[in-house]
Amino acid sequence: MTSATRTQVGIIGGGPSGLLLSQLLQLRGIDTVVLERRSRDYVLGRIRAGVLEHGFAELMREAQVGERMDREGQIHEGVYIAYDGRRERIDLHALTGKTVMVYGQTELTRDLYEGRDRLGGKVIHEAEDVRPQDLNSSHPYITYRDGSGPHRIDCDYVVGCDGFHGVSRQSIPKDKIQTFEKIFPFGWLGVLSRTPPVSSELIYANHERGFALCSLRSATLSRYYIQVPLSDTVQEWSDELFFEELKRRLPEEVASSMVTGVSIEKSIAPLRSFAVEPMRYGNLFLAGDAAHIVPPTGAKGLNTAASDIYYLYHALVDHYARGNDRGLESYSSRALARVWKGQRFSWWMTKLLHRFPDDSPYDRRLQQTELAYLFSSERALASLAENYVGLPF
Ligand SMILES: Cc1cc2nc3c(=O)[nH]c(=O)nc-3n(C[C@H](O)[C@H](O)[C@H](O)COP(=O)(O)OP(=O)(O)OC[C@H]3O[C@@H](n4cnc5c(N)ncnc54)[C@H](O)[C@@H]3O)c2cc1C
Repeated sequence: MTSATRTQVGIIGGGPSGLLLSQLLQLRGIDTVVLERRSRDYVLGRIRAGVLEHGFAELMREAQVGERMDREGQIHEGVYIAYDGRRERIDLHALTGKTVMVYGQTELTRDLYEGRDRLGGKVIHEAEDVRPQDLNSSHPYITYRDGSGPHRIDCDYVVGCDGFHGVSRQSIPKDKIQTFEKIFPFGWLGVLSRTPPVSSELIYANHERGFALCSLRSATLSRYYIQVPLSDTVQEWSDELFFEELKRRLPEEVASSMVTGVSIEKSIAPLRSFAVEPMRYGNLFLAGDAAHIVPPTGAKGLNTAASDIYYLYHALVDHYARGNDRGLESYSSRALARVWKGQRFSWWMTKLLHRFPDDSPYDRRLQQTELAYLFSSERALASLAENYVGLPF
């Protein structure tokens, strides 16, 4: 027999978006249930984003889960772009008065789970066959199964925070949403290694052999990436080959000081831009990767998820505490206005820094000119910097 419960906001997906929203709402007295398909260990095993905008860090503090981030995260005031054998620093702080926080998504998710535990938040793991239902009615509900049988959760609202492959977006009739998509003809091969980072600030490299990125998670944990063809597999890339190729794509002074080591994680991520409009269908709201994804070049994926959560959190508080639905009605258009700016910046950074297989000599000259212009104009640098540290919510 199906067991039935009730909550105010049913959240599908226990990644950063779903956890952050449920934590913020519970602190304002709004009841939520989070349904996650995977185990907690599985979610915490994912190695993903690492650069948090100022606004995201603020939201973590508001959710009372920012303490460890403030203690262990690193404030970065600048980033480097390497091209033509040299390395140029972009002083984010001098250009914008703001900084970014380097703190891994894995750590941030752990903090959110601990925050949920502290408040006694309800997060159901290994929920199978999760399905949002009756979304266009005033009584939507979610069904799922676990080891004890089938369940039903009645809600006022359903929020789809279940990532790109989740069920929420797929529950919207095709003729009610429009999708926008661009697939890039390459991927990023990423390696996490327990070695001191080659640079205390990120280095983005444009090189004739392809893009490279030197990133980090802490003073002892490095995250490096190289652009690879989509046909490559992880098995073809030994650690030795990876570091050899990475070094070739970096200026000599950087490559010669790099400490290499054994990888503790290695994966290839395809690069894709994707967005749906609107981000609402009846009483279902989409947030984070469920509604949009970007290539990671501008570090905007997780940060754009955070602005969705910010808008939705305030809209739901206005609804429950003040009976004001304006925020819910304008959620999709407000969120999308910022989503598209994140899409634009991620596309622009990707175009600036990668080698596209079909680029003509003309395209290549334009890319070189774009880089030359960037480093000759304080205003061009300021534009990059204000997007990188994060546009206001
Ligand atoms: C390999 C990779 C590398 C990345 N690197 C970067 C980076 O360097 N910088 C950056 O800014 N961003 C990066 N991103 C993007 C960033 O990680 C995402 O934007 C972020 O995880 C979005 O959070 P989310 O909670 O919206 O979605 P997710 O983190 O995808 O969480 C969705 C959750 O929903 C669960 N779920 C899915 N389907 C169901 C279902 N049917 N029922 C119940 N639960 C379900 C999933 O198990 C998952 O836990 C990367 C993404 C990937 C995949």
